[in-house]
Amino acid sequence: MLQLPEKYSNVGTTIFTVMSALAQKYSAINLSQGFPDFGVDPNLGNLLLEASEQGFNQYAPMAGLLSLRQEIARHLFESQNVQVNADTEITITPGATYAIYTAFAAVLQPGDEVIVFEPAYDSYIPNIEMNGAKAITITLSAPSFSIDWNQVKDRINTKTKAIILTTPHNPTGTILSQQDWDLLAEIVRDTQIVILSDEVYEQLVYDGKKHISILRHPELRLRSFVLYSFGKALHITGWKVGYCIASPTLTEAFRKIHQFLSFSVNTPAQYALSKYLQLPLHQPVSVFMQKKRDLFLSILKDTPFTIYEPSAGSYFQLAGYDQISSLPEHEFAVWLTKHYGVATIPLSAFYRDKKENKLIRFCFAKKEETLRSAAIQLQKL
Ligand code: GLN
Repeated sequence: MLQLPEKYSNVGTTIFTVMSALAQKYSAINLSQGFPDFGVDPNLGNLLLEASEQGFNQYAPMAGLLSLRQEIARHLFESQNVQVNADTEITITPGATYAIYTAFAAVLQPGDEVIVFEPAYDSYIPNIEMNGAKAITITLSAPSFSIDWNQVKDRINTKTKAIILTTPHNPTGTILSQQDWDLLAEIVRDTQIVILSDEVYEQLVYDGKKHISILRHPELRLRSFVLYSFGKALHITGWKVGYCIASPTLTEAFRKIHQFLSFSVNTPAQYALSKYLQLPLHQPVSVFMQKKRDLFLSILKDTPFTIYEPSAGSYFQLAGYDQISSLPEHEFAVWLTKHYGVATIPLSAFYRDKKENKLIRFCFAKKEETLRSAAIQLQKL
């Protein structure tokens, strides 16, 4: 029998895998794991083919194709009015989850502390612990899930090495404001604290609200790794292409780790993305996705679920079920999958101590027909 070290014995399989597998087992409509079930723009698909035909089949440069990094810099200038150096501040990564791990690996040492706001995307704490550091959690309360910055100030000490934030937020759909960034800047001024800003849903913000990137804050920007995902922006989660924006000093540290992890990223995908981003955009993805959010909200109105706040951004809508069941969240999500054929994610999965709020997360980044089929099922409740 092989004796393996107990690396991470307290962690099971990620909830996204668990719920997607359950959805498959019970032939349920999968509104759990966050991925679109609709096709990619054929122009993008064709460019992927073209990339291979044109011979873009060998390793890309370690930092990513320069043409793609230049398109990213242009996008950030147009959307956030920030200048980013394509050469020294952008690194293409195999997805954002990888980029988060790499950023932590670049800065954490055993004994360091990292502040994490819960509910938190489920990879953050394991990634911190894998790097020998300790996650210090701050609980955000339903329904606003807003950050009390005084509490953050109280939790900071000389061991605090990083703070990780998410906007738009998975799973709550909240977004951070300019004031949040200003308050954060005040707290970290005169410290060595590094910020990880997970902005993978940057383009998915609704009701005329605006995503405000941490990059727009000149002071915070110098101490931040900002993580993005083409998967979310272009409905290609399976391509696993994202990027990390950081100052030249932080980028250098990031690339030291990246060069020995994946070294580089799928070349044909990078080629296709760089060409695609040069094409004129037909419709902002936020308009396209808001239609889905609105349809889903109207569906939930005809069910006993409670909506406390409409999602301001991301793929996700939280909903309360205390009118339906007194089961704990995980059991409720399993019950709903088995008996009503709709898979969701229990919010408790985003808390280390599995805190209960009687809330589940729906992913509405789905075809209209998928959402309408889910409506038929949920309206039976
Ligand atoms: N980000 C997606 C979600 O929150 C899933 C990512 C994953 O499956 N690891 O559902």
